[in-house]
Amino acid sequence: MLLPDYHIHTARCGHAKGAMWEYVEKALALRLPEIGFADHIPMYWLNDQDRDPGIAMSFEGLAEYVAEVEKLRVVYPSIPIRLGIEADYMPDFEMELKKVLDQYSFDYVLGSVHYIDGWGFDNPAYLEKYKHINIDELYYQYFSLVQQAARSGLFHVLSHPDLIKKFGYRPKADLQEAYDKTARAFAEAGVGMEINTAGLRVPAKEIYPALGLLQACKNYAVPVTTGSDAHEPGQVGFAFDSVRCLLEEVGYTEVLYFNNLVSKGC
Ligand code: ZN
Ligand code: FE
Ligand code: FE
Ligand code: ZN
Repeated sequence: MLLPDYHIHTARCGHAKGAMWEYVEKALALRLPEIGFADHIPMYWLNDQDRDPGIAMSFEGLAEYVAEVEKLRVVYPSIPIRLGIEADYMPDFEMELKKVLDQYSFDYVLGSVHYIDGWGFDNPAYLEKYKHINIDELYYQYFSLVQQAARSGLFHVLSHPDLIKKFGYRPKADLQEAYDKTARAFAEAGVGMEINTAGLRVPAKEIYPALGLLQACKNYAVPVTTGSDAHEPGQVGFAFDSVRCLLEEVGYTEVLYFNNLVSKGC
């Protein structure tokens, strides 16, 4: 099955490397059918002075980012290049996010939960907190935010849907019920779920999502997208062979394309 890479970052977020054209060149070398940039949206929920240039691009950067994707489409007509964005879900800031999203014609919006009550739990700078909290409760809180994000109507796809496992803190509780609830929320909201290979590059050492969540999504017929979460050109299409195996194991025969077509097995 040919898999597009819809989760590609750029140096504009302050923590990714390489020029945008280098990501495209890598995709061409791998013969990917299609790609999409999805860099971190400006930290719209904060005041100007509190935005961290090492976490996300600025609002000026966003305009340049959109313009550069449009330029690359002209330079590389042989591969469809989609304009996406990775947008943090922040409860109570839905209107602010909508305002940003409405300014550009994004082909898709990836919704990401990176914060729980203001704690950037996926940021290695704030790991200490894991030692002082109930991990089971943290997981339930995380998945309830993911479900809320799905229902917000702001996103097409929920990205790295079990990012909470990133640093390898695992719950004692069985998560299948939370997975089922999450998959049902995706189905009811009509959003897709991303299969994201970045999980293999961090202590979790496992694709996002876990097998049980992917199976639950299959049961509810939730469409899936594929992404590497590349933060350097060499990571484009990262471990897509593992994604193919996983799709086959769970019985997915197609993945979502943002040109409204659907990939059939090949
Ligand atoms: Zn990033
Ligand atoms: Fe993310
Ligand atoms: Fe990302
Ligand atoms: Zn991400």
